[in-house]
Amino acid sequence: MTNQELADLIFPNITKTVEDYELMYPKRVLPEGAKVVRFAPSPTGFMHIGNMMSATINYCLAKSSNGVFFLRNEDTDQKRSVEGSVDFIYHTLDYYHIMPDEYEYNGEVVGSYGPYIQSKRIEIYHTFIKYLISIGRAYPCFLTSAELEEIRAYQSKSKRRIGIYGRYAKFRDVPNEELAQRIKNGEKFVIRFRSEGDFNKKFIFEDLTKGKIEMPQNDIDVPIMKSENLLPTYHFAHVIDDHLMRTTHVVRGEEWMSSVPLHFELFAAFGFKMPKYIHTSLILKKDGDTIRKISKRKDPEALMFFYEEKGYPYLAVIDAVLTIANSNFEEWRTNHPDTPFYCFPFSPKKMSSSGALFDLDKLDNISKNIIAKMPAETLYEEYLEWAKKYDEHVYNLITNHKDDTISFLNIERTCKKPRKDYENYSSIYHKTWYIYDEEWDKEEITYDFGKITDKDEIKKIMREYLNNYYNESDTEEVWFNKIKELCDKLNYCSDMKKYKEKPAAYKGNVADFTTIMRVVLTTSSMTPNLYDIMKILGRDRMQHRFEIFLKKY
Ligand code: GLU
Repeated sequence: MTNQELADLIFPNITKTVEDYELMYPKRVLPEGAKVVRFAPSPTGFMHIGNMMSATINYCLAKSSNGVFFLRNEDTDQKRSVEGSVDFIYHTLDYYHIMPDEYEYNGEVVGSYGPYIQSKRIEIYHTFIKYLISIGRAYPCFLTSAELEEIRAYQSKSKRRIGIYGRYAKFRDVPNEELAQRIKNGEKFVIRFRSEGDFNKKFIFEDLTKGKIEMPQNDIDVPIMKSENLLPTYHFAHVIDDHLMRTTHVVRGEEWMSSVPLHFELFAAFGFKMPKYIHTSLILKKDGDTIRKISKRKDPEALMFFYEEKGYPYLAVIDAVLTIANSNFEEWRTNHPDTPFYCFPFSPKKMSSSGALFDLDKLDNISKNIIAKMPAETLYEEYLEWAKKYDEHVYNLITNHKDDTISFLNIERTCKKPRKDYENYSSIYHKTWYIYDEEWDKEEITYDFGKITDKDEIKKIMREYLNNYYNESDTEEVWFNKIKELCDKLNYCSDMKKYKEKPAAYKGNVADFTTIMRVVLTTSSMTPNLYDIMKILGRDRMQHRFEIFLKKY
């Protein structure tokens, strides 16, 4: 029985050929140097920060080279598939503005190299597997799970390499007649690749990040088609899909690095050109004094839900990811503060090969800068959008008090060095709640007084100020002169220099004095410009805040 006859027996309905698919998916016509890249997640979990890094790098590589970025849904592990995972991938790419040029989602197919969902490509895989069988480079293997387990246990006990190779590849040289008979008997089988590699020989390849790598050649007859659903394994699908979709650069996690010798052999078996590889580093985090791999189970920031729920602007997350992806990103960002991130010339060589340390403080810093640069109206809209999804109370509050919210967010914003108060949208409320009257009824109010805590003294100052000094129409200069006047009158020193010479001669200085008003009006000693806060509140509301204070003391 010939190999072709065996192939026909296993795949009687496959009538297309490898050549047919080559013609269907011709080489892409693209400008010189254009990169064709893909993001190929498996819907077996929710999009995490490692996925995000791959997707962002891919997007940059495609955009900066006028290339193509496509999304491929690698859903061949159907047992582990997680509901909602595909939707979240799509949503995340959209949310972070890193949408692929080609994809398939909710029945919509964009691009002519699809299907972009692996489970819809079975006929393609079978055609290529059929071809491998016909040239003697693949065969059905009938080892049962119990037999496989026995081999594994033996190999591990006798400290041998694990896998089906050499004499463990029991069906490799069984005559086609016997294989055919077993198939006709209905025995379960997988299709294995027939490796021609030699473990004692070297395989050398150039990873664009890690440089020249030397590994033993592959000699394992890996399964390329599983018995259930007749779906391909990752290794096989990678080779076929990235060939037919004309991928030029594969960006993937470094856990795949050890499979490169196998992938090389598979590409070579078909005579395909291998894409270039960029194996991305593990994402690490600091945990006390140690540095460890970020964990989807232990670290909420490992999953992309976290950043949306906290309300980080999408650009902050992208910049934070690129900061750990490339050592020169920060410098590039400093020199190009307003350039879109995807113009960044990502360089695989500038990716740390030992691991990328992700640091939430760094993200907070990046985010504070981005939020500080937004016009108040834009920030309000973003904040509102976030609240709509994540915080109903805040949503209602800022919807009902739109003008006050924008005016407050605008304090010290339009100047050269705007305030950097907020690292994300969920932190805004905690620093702004006091501008909303209704929050004063609910909150268990605690005042954060500084040096002056004597309640009678505070009452005296507030009374005098509100009755005889405050005027809503004063300019900031007049307002401050009045404060200084009252300050001196009550024996606080309005001149810092004078105060420092003889502090004991005064009850306090002008800063202590304004702190009193600041705390009575906001409860906090750390707020934006008091003049602006008073302007937003106006006399009546200031009076009301003072009454709340009086009621409490
Ligand atoms: N589906 C694989 C994964 O999620 C993709 C690896 C690759 O990009 O080739 O790890």
